[in-house]
Amino acid sequence: MTRIGLYPGSFDPPTKGHEDLIRRSFSLCDRLIVAVAVNGAKEPLFSPEERVAMLRTVVGEEPKVELRTFDGLLADFASEVGAAVIIRGLRAVSDFEYEFQMALMNRQLHPGLETVFLVAAVDLTYLSSSLVREIARLGGDVGDFVHPTVSTALRERFAP
Ligand code: ADP
Repeated sequence: MTRIGLYPGSFDPPTKGHEDLIRRSFSLCDRLIVAVAVNGAKEPLFSPEERVAMLRTVVGEEPKVELRTFDGLLADFASEVGAAVIIRGLRAVSDFEYEFQMALMNRQLHPGLETVFLVAAVDLTYLSSSLVREIARLGGDVGDFVHPTVSTALRERFAP
């Protein structure tokens, strides 16, 4: 039986922290669906399609990974794609409360759906998309934190 993992997020934009989590997830599932949330509460910098295209470049030719966008409830999307496990990242204690609540709610909505938390490489745990956006907006170099394609996209987006 194929074990499908679902890694949902905003990925606005994808960072090396996301990339690290994607690669770590391979040991947990046979197939990984990386799903870009369309209806995040925040005003996104990149469209869902742009984020999927960036993820495609970041992930490269990896037959295990499927990239999708999703709208609506994560628990419903997980059922639709037959995911056995939701994969999320934990960076600091500050992530915990929200993630804990989401994991419990998703299991309530879809019994049997488990959430697994992965911790990124120690040098990436301070990384977030919002921090990367902020640095890029202020003209800083984000080359250490994102794929070169993402770095270029950010530069173009914030070009005066
Ligand atoms: P969301 O808006 O759903 O939190 P993000 O794109 O910010 O979407 O994050 C998606 C997932 O990846 C979250 O579980 C987040 O904790 C995790 N994540 C993001 N960056 C890192 C990182 N540097 N290390 C570990 N996990 C991370």
